[in-house]
Amino acid sequence: MIHQRKLKSVPKGIGMTSQGTRDRLVRRLRDNGIRDERVLKAIATTPRHEFVDEALSSRAYEDTALPIGLSQTISQPWVVAKMTEALLDGGSPQKVLEVGTGSGYQAAILASLIPKVFTVERIEELLKLARRRFHKLGLHHIYTRYADGHIGWPSQAPFDGIIVTAAAIELPEELLLQLRIGGVLVAPVEKGGMQRLLAIRRTEEGFEEKDLGGVIFVPMLSGLS
Ligand code: SAH
Repeated sequence: MIHQRKLKSVPKGIGMTSQGTRDRLVRRLRDNGIRDERVLKAIATTPRHEFVDEALSSRAYEDTALPIGLSQTISQPWVVAKMTEALLDGGSPQKVLEVGTGSGYQAAILASLIPKVFTVERIEELLKLARRRFHKLGLHHIYTRYADGHIGWPSQAPFDGIIVTAAAIELPEELLLQLRIGGVLVAPVEKGGMQRLLAIRRTEEGFEEKDLGGVIFVPMLSGLS
């Protein structure tokens, strides 16, 4: 009884979005092969529940993708961690581009590790919500743009890293060309009816590709919505 009364006095949702819950997610990611401590710390300190609808906040620290409306999803934490790890691999990028802002969670993770984050979204309504979240969390070094990310962000190129969070049938060449030499582009790409997560490093000679495994992303679409 005493226990129940105590729980009642706790503000709604706090137990399920607490630091302890976040730490459990971090342990799970570590167990599932995420090694970069910088990335694990970013996940531990970023409130994912702020990036989903309040009705879903109790599920925010499960290792699953969740709906964010308009047929889009916030990516699974493991995928966010894996992509961020690949982006940081062997360096400390200073300026990165994300294509597909969505909820803004991936951008917020990047912003806790990288001084300048540029992010592009083609659905205005989602971008407005994400901007509000960045403002609320004081993430003033995330620069947003309402645009079709197929063309990247030419006026800000080159980037030390690029993350694409929607699956393309073919990787836009324009994006690869906005990478600085030594930089990595991480993106899901359709291959034979499946999606593979690729990390592509730009070298003096050309591009080196690494396959990081199978993933499931929403499709990369053209134009604005
Ligand atoms: N990074 C997001 C994942 C969102 S899902 C997060 O952390 O929540 C992928 C997003 O990519 C969707 O919001 C979708 O609208 C967007 N997207 C798809 N095609 C795009 C394009 N060509 N340009 C910009 N954004 C695109």
